[in-house]
Amino acid sequence: MGERDPFGLTPSAWEAFAVEAGLPRYRGRQLFDAIHRRGVTDYAAMKELPAALRERLAAEMPLRLPEVVRRDASADGSVKFGLRLVDGALIEAVFMPGDETRSAANEFEDARAASHSRSEIRSSQSGSGATVPRFTICLSSQTGCAVDCAFCVTGRLGGGRNLTAGEILAQLRAVLVETRHGLDGMRVVFMGMGEPFLNPEGVIPALEILFELVSPRRVTVSTSGITPAVATFAALPQRPNLAVSLNAADPATRERLMPITKTYPLDGLLAAMRAWPLEPRRRILVEYVLIAGVNDREEDARRLVRLLRGLEVKVNVIPLNEDPTYLPEWKRPAEDVIDRFVARLAEAHVTVTVRRSKGPDASAACGQLKGRTVDPRKRTQTGR
Ligand code: SAH
Ligand code: SF4
Repeated sequence: MGERDPFGLTPSAWEAFAVEAGLPRYRGRQLFDAIHRRGVTDYAAMKELPAALRERLAAEMPLRLPEVVRRDASADGSVKFGLRLVDGALIEAVFMPGDETRSAANEFEDARAASHSRSEIRSSQSGSGATVPRFTICLSSQTGCAVDCAFCVTGRLGGGRNLTAGEILAQLRAVLVETRHGLDGMRVVFMGMGEPFLNPEGVIPALEILFELVSPRRVTVSTSGITPAVATFAALPQRPNLAVSLNAADPATRERLMPITKTYPLDGLLAAMRAWPLEPRRRILVEYVLIAGVNDREEDARRLVRLLRGLEVKVNVIPLNEDPTYLPEWKRPAEDVIDRFVARLAEAHVTVTVRRSKGPDASAACGQLKGRTVDPRKRTQTGR
């Protein structure tokens, strides 16, 4: 049975496994369903399987969830989990309760939802009248981030390794177990630690598994703009919602904030966004972290409008989450500046929402996820 991680096998990989092991093919499907749909975390509880198979699987392909090493609850109901992977690497995942309370999960609603009123969305999803509690789980795709954006705590703390598909799904399961949730009403966003488009080997099979469990419309992958990978993900038979962390509307400001712009220039990124295949009523989410005196002028808003002309997008303005320790040089704009910026976009008929990050008291807000508290680079480098 080898090195395979049971959390990371797609249904077809499970079926192939069953056939290889001399079992009927349907056993593979049973295993996939038990693990991912029913959330069984112990083979012994999979009574539909022969006892000998259960024992063999337990010995040779153990189901290992990451260890929950921290649990920080916020006043708004979001919970940030610190998780330790088998090799000791630490990652963070965030649970955000649903939109009944207009809490943090709204921040990640997909672009499609923006064209409807909230009540329409709710009634269309609950034909029987019963309301499914909605929630969003924000996942990490790497144990750090080498993209090194100047305003991001994860980036300030340096690069890490890729998570495998199995680790990504086990991370999701750990949060579901901890919060006692099933799959109903779930949204998943890859907006935690790491750059998902630098980890296609882990993220693509993870998406394939996720799409068995929830509609692709309920899954969003956010990228800092790894242009060639945008094309790779665009070619997938089923695509998640695309979110792009733009953060600046001119090349110089973007280079300053996101040095990755030197490798993948802004115009190429915009071209890749134009080429992204959008199903009807889907849009690309454009994230724009608003930083005082850097990208928050009305002129910046006007430039953003021009840059995005002709694209089906929804802009999510994220006032900077400050961090005096890791981001001492960057400040959040004053409220009236935020309002003016948003008004300029709205006037130009750009759909815009403001993500007033909930849960900064749990450091669960955007760009504040960190598995560690020491930058490994600082040991050898100075003067950054
Ligand atoms: N690496 C991917 C996925 C992480 S998403 C990406 O960058 O898109 C994290 C989101 O939080 C990004 O949109 C990023 O721009 C935003 N962010 C990072 N640091 C932030 C901060 N200090 N305050 C507010 N938002 C921040
Ligand atoms: Fe990495 Fe995204 Fe943070 Fe940039 S914003 S350093 S890409 S996690």
